[in-house]
Amino acid sequence: MHQMTLAEIARGLADKKFSSEELTKVLLARISQLDPQLNSFISLTEELALDQAKAADARRANGESGALLGAPIAHKDLFCTQGIRTSCGSKMLDNFKAPYDATVVAKLAAAGAVTLGKTNMDEFAMGSANESSWYGAVKNPWNLEHVPGGSSGGSAAAVAARLLPAATATDTGGSIRQPAAFTNLTGLKPTYGRVSRWGMIAYASSLDQGGPLARTAEDCAIMLQGMAGFDQNDSTSIDEPVPDYSASLNESLQGLRIGVPKEYFSAGLDPRIAELIQNSIKELQKLGAVIKEISLPNMQHAIPAYYVIAPAEASSNLSRFDGVRFGHRCENPENLIDLYKRSRGEGFGPEVQRRIMVGAYALSAGYYDAYYLKAQKIRRLVKNDFMTAFNEVDIILGPTTPNPAWKLGAKNSDPVAAYLEDVYTITANLAGLPGLSMPAGFVDGLPVGVQLLAPYFQEGRLLNVAHQYQLNTDWHTRTPTGF
Ligand code: GLN
Repeated sequence: MHQMTLAEIARGLADKKFSSEELTKVLLARISQLDPQLNSFISLTEELALDQAKAADARRANGESGALLGAPIAHKDLFCTQGIRTSCGSKMLDNFKAPYDATVVAKLAAAGAVTLGKTNMDEFAMGSANESSWYGAVKNPWNLEHVPGGSSGGSAAAVAARLLPAATATDTGGSIRQPAAFTNLTGLKPTYGRVSRWGMIAYASSLDQGGPLARTAEDCAIMLQGMAGFDQNDSTSIDEPVPDYSASLNESLQGLRIGVPKEYFSAGLDPRIAELIQNSIKELQKLGAVIKEISLPNMQHAIPAYYVIAPAEASSNLSRFDGVRFGHRCENPENLIDLYKRSRGEGFGPEVQRRIMVGAYALSAGYYDAYYLKAQKIRRLVKNDFMTAFNEVDIILGPTTPNPAWKLGAKNSDPVAAYLEDVYTITANLAGLPGLSMPAGFVDGLPVGVQLLAPYFQEGRLLNVAHQYQLNTDWHTRTPTGF
C-alpha cells in the first residue's frame, strides 16, 4: 500500500479498494517502524490524521470526490498548524503551538488531505543538508550516511522512503529542488506569489515560496492544485487564475525549445552528473524537443548576491523572536537586554546566528550601499538574463546540483562550501521564476536531479515536460533498498 503514488491512491479510494482510514493506519505504523532510522518527522499527528481520514471517508461516502480527498501528506514544520507545535526546526520555537493554520495547510485540509505530521527541516530553513535542525540531522534513505539535502530534508526523506506519498516544502534558494535531487523525487518551486506565504514562517520573504515534494510530476500537479491560489492575507500573493495542472500533463513536447546554459557545464560540475544531464537532453529530444545553447552571463554573481539578500531579510524577520511574546525565554533574566541576549543566544543555533550577524552587518549604515544595494542590482541582472533567454526558449534545463548528496558532517566546518552547492537553484529564487527538479539517474548509488526552469506562471509547462519525461524513463520509480 505504501508504494502508491497520490494518483494511484485517488483511484483506489474512488474505486473503494481501501479507505483513507486504512491507508492512514498503514502509513502511521510504517512511520513509527522506519522513521527512527531517518529522523524525518519532528511531530506526528496521529489523532488529527485519523479524524481527518474518517471525515474524508465520510465525504466520499456522501458522493464527494477529489484527488486529495483522503490523501495522506505531511507539512514541513514551518507551516503553522493550529494547536500543533510548529518548531521551524529550532529550539526557539520548540514550545510554539501555532494559533492558526497557514493558508497552505487550510487549503489542503479543505481539499481533504490527511496530515500525518510535521517534518524535520534545517533551522529556520537555513541550510542545504538538514543538519542544522535542533531536532538532529535527517538521513538520506538512499544511504543513511549521507544527507538528504535541505532545508526540506524531512519532507524529502519521508516521501523517498515511502512513508507517505507527498509533502509540503519551501524553497528560498533551492530547498525543494535540491532535496528532491538528493532523494530521487520530483519537487516544484512555484513562481513567487503563486502559493500563499501566510502562516509560513519567514526566512527571506522576497525569496520564500512553498511547493510540493512527491515522487512524480503527476503527483506534484495534484499537490500544487491544492496549494496554489490568491490569498488576500499575503500581500505578495498574485491574483491570477489557477490553471488545471493535471489537464496539461499530456501535451506534446513536439517543437519545445529547451535552452541549455553554457555556464552550467563549468568546472564545478561532477562530470558524471554532466553525463546524466546529457542523457536527459537526448531523451527529451526523442520526444520532439529542440535544444539550443544559451547564456546566463551573470550566474556567477548569484551566490554572493543571495548570501547577502537572504541573511539581510532573515536578520529582520527573525528579530521578532526576542523571548518576550512567544518562543524560547531564558531563565531569570537580569534585565531586558539580558533577556533578549540570552533568549536569542540559547534559542538559535550557530547557522542561524551566523546569518543574523551577516544580515545585520550588510544592512547597517555605511555597508548597506556596498553590500545590500549591490546585491539587489545583481538580482536584477540575474532576472534580466532569464528574460533574454526566455525570448528564445520555452524551458531552461540543467543540473539541479553540482554534486550528489554528501556525507553527513562533510561540510559542517566550512559553511561556504555548502553555500556553493546552491549554484544552480538560487537564480530562480532571485528572479522569482518557477523551477522543478526530477530524477535523472544515479552516481555511486546516489540520486541525481535534472532541473527545469520556465517563465513566470508556467508551472503547468514544467509539470508537462517532467510528466512526459517520466512516461519514458523509470528513474523516478526506483526505491531505496530497505524502504
Ligand atoms: N541552501 C540555501 C540556504 O541555506 C537555501 C535554503 C532554502 O531554500 N530554504 O539559504
